[in-house]
Amino acid sequence: MGSRANQNSMAIVEASRKVFPGGVNSPVRAFSGVGGTPVVFEKGAGKTLSDVDGNSYIDFCASWGPLILGYSHPSVVSAVQKQAESALTFGAPSANELVLAEKVMEWVPQLEMMRFVSSGTEATMSAIRTARAATGRNKIVKFVGCYHGHADCLLVDAGSGLATLGQPSSAGVTEGAVVDTITVPYNDVAAVEAVFEKWGQDIALVAVEPMAANMGLVLPQEGYLKFLREITLQQGALLLFDEVMTGFRVAQGGAAEAFGVVPDLWAFGKIIGGGLPAAAYGGRREIMEHVSPLGSAYQAGTLSGNPLAMAAGLATLEEMERCGAFEKLEQTGQALDHLVADQLAMQMEQGQLSYVRKASFFCFFFGTGKHPQNFAEVSQGDFPLFAKVYHAWLDAGVYMGPSGYEVGFLNTLHEKADLEKLVGVVADVVRPK
Ligand SMILES: *Cc1c(COP(=O)(O)O)cnc(C)c1O
Repeated sequence: MGSRANQNSMAIVEASRKVFPGGVNSPVRAFSGVGGTPVVFEKGAGKTLSDVDGNSYIDFCASWGPLILGYSHPSVVSAVQKQAESALTFGAPSANELVLAEKVMEWVPQLEMMRFVSSGTEATMSAIRTARAATGRNKIVKFVGCYHGHADCLLVDAGSGLATLGQPSSAGVTEGAVVDTITVPYNDVAAVEAVFEKWGQDIALVAVEPMAANMGLVLPQEGYLKFLREITLQQGALLLFDEVMTGFRVAQGGAAEAFGVVPDLWAFGKIIGGGLPAAAYGGRREIMEHVSPLGSAYQAGTLSGNPLAMAAGLATLEEMERCGAFEKLEQTGQALDHLVADQLAMQMEQGQLSYVRKASFFCFFFGTGKHPQNFAEVSQGDFPLFAKVYHAWLDAGVYMGPSGYEVGFLNTLHEKADLEKLVGVVADVVRPK
């Protein structure tokens, strides 16, 4: 591994280890999943990233999703600059938060009322509190392998049964904090039925990534989201789509449009802030009326609706409309499908890797045989092989999220040559048997 120069990255990471736990401000950045030294970046421009050692990379990570237009899009940068000249923050209402909210509701017409927060973690945490307030029930259902941020009640490992009360998955989380969290495997109908049979009257909320993109990419099986919609309606529980990643990316109207199922509550993040810290939660009006000061579910934020983040988010959504982002990304995605079919057909047939794409999300799984349908199947993968591919990508100038549990993101600037580079590396490392 490592034909690139990386002395400067190494020096910075080394010094950072004294200052930040593991040298990083979010654990996946430490490269624990792939080994080697994290790349320390200096600049992003369009689809290209440059590191502190003078290497450049085609970016397929998009800062984990927000940068659907690539780095430093001129419209986004100028919107932020213009806002910076008026104010960085007011801690009071400002005009742009309404404009962005109305744009979001134009894109997701079923969303009736919302509130801005500053991270996806806050969005899901607040949506859960609101669901409990609205239903007067305590328990929540979570799918193994779905990530909803790091609120205590969501840091839970599956127990051993089909549908179980979980154990804390992190030190520092009490059993009390997860006692109302029930975990089930993704794409499993029987497990959810069992949960409602046992705890039906106590369940406030089923929280789901409508398309799971934090365990690689696992699509909901045909009819699965519809099933979740029906059982929650029957049982008086609410359904939360955590669209922090899928929102404004899987389709203009999000998962409701892509899969034809409308939840009660949504969480948004990532693209909604255009690369600055913004997120939101929202849903049906009578549910959101439980949020303070209208209702008694408390939730607040000093920097909520931050003017810079609102400007970046709004400029991003407007630019996506202007450039026909969804059509463009679908075309790029189809070009990627063709390349994969051309260059990796044998490897896929032999079960060495599988590939799936939906809109601008794509994912390769190595060594799982068929494409995984839940977290247990994802975990069967050949992660050392992923690490090998990963470092070959870096050496070839391709940057992806440094973990075999992450997805790749297309942006509106990718061209065929970029995709050829991406797929070519996989074909080089993973040879047909
Ligand atoms: C990224 C992500 C979150 C957490 O968002 P943060 O802004 O990192 O707190 C929550 N849910 C999903 C689906 C995500 O992808």
